[in-house]
Amino acid sequence: MIFLIEIDFNIDYKDKQLFSRRCSLRINNRSIKTPLLWLGHPIGFEPRPWEHFPMDTLMVNAYDILMKPKIYNKVCETGIHKFLNFDGLVMMDSGGFVFQKKEELDVEPSKIIELYEKAGPDIGVVLDHPLSIQKSMSDNRKRWKKTLQNTDFMIKNNGDIALMPVLHGYTLNELKKACKEVRKINDNPKIIGLGSLVPLLFNMKVSKKLKFKNCRNFVIDATRLVREEFPNSLLHTFGVGSTKTMHLMFSLGVDSLDSTGWRLKAAYGNIQLPGVSDRNPTPRNNGRASLSDGEKIILDECECPTCMGKSLEQKIKSLDGPFPPRALHNAYVYNQELENYVKSLEQGKSKEFAEGRLKPGFFSKSFDYLVNIKYI
Ligand SMILES: [Zn+2]
Repeated sequence: MIFLIEIDFNIDYKDKQLFSRRCSLRINNRSIKTPLLWLGHPIGFEPRPWEHFPMDTLMVNAYDILMKPKIYNKVCETGIHKFLNFDGLVMMDSGGFVFQKKEELDVEPSKIIELYEKAGPDIGVVLDHPLSIQKSMSDNRKRWKKTLQNTDFMIKNNGDIALMPVLHGYTLNELKKACKEVRKINDNPKIIGLGSLVPLLFNMKVSKKLKFKNCRNFVIDATRLVREEFPNSLLHTFGVGSTKTMHLMFSLGVDSLDSTGWRLKAAYGNIQLPGVSDRNPTPRNNGRASLSDGEKIILDECECPTCMGKSLEQKIKSLDGPFPPRALHNAYVYNQELENYVKSLEQGKSKEFAEGRLKPGFFSKSFDYLVNIKYI
């Protein structure tokens, strides 16, 4: 098989305290250092954060393009970078998850490959069928079988797109088997994804049929397993790049994450701040806390495009108003948190930093579990 894509992925530095690492990725003529965070952008919607502050990576979804013929034609004509007016790296997700959720139609992998070839994203995700926490083991096994068939088809019919195979498994044995099956199709993938973790990490209602002892510990074990199975590949875990979970996942040795949380939280009226959970800008009766005096001091320092040049009162007013300025603020904080993590990694202090971000809090025990694995 001839691969026309040029991808280089090298590990530059491995953290001694936990599993974090710093790597270099080069795809065609674009170079970048990991860890990476890809903010998810729904095509056709505002705001477009890269038009307001520098961004290196962006994730879009094939679903948004395939469902809108006008956009499809335009993207195919100009290419995705030009269409978005974005110079950084673009990852295109296959839309498998959305198609599955909406039960609209069963998209063919050939359609996705065709779109990738024409749109030219830097990374194209294999059409996968994420597992469901509501379904039985055997239903989920069928989903994985379909994902594996798509992986085989897409890698064999790929032209010059860097394709990311995605692993799924709700037991460690199944995940190990999945790694082996993907390796049979591509023995040394430069990029590998891991999916189906979102509901487990965020404590959603999991069917008893799946027999998880501790969902969040499973996420940690599963990620470690895949990290060890593919030590030299860029590892991307899907959907778990919140301002809190990013520190947990990077500490596990994950190189790359994505999130649409910057928009979702803004849609609920919530803002993000470094090291602080979701907050309402002003008191509201929705079960979420509003800003404390200490958090107002943190907000006062924010220099995002929404907050810049404003007094604290003006900032709060803008963030309490329409969706776009609040989403933009959140996007900026997500990127800032990535930068803060990278800085701590470069200083050899990522363990202390991640601990400070995760403890106390919802992921406190998960962090302890991870530290325990490292020091066994
Ligand atoms: Zn701000």
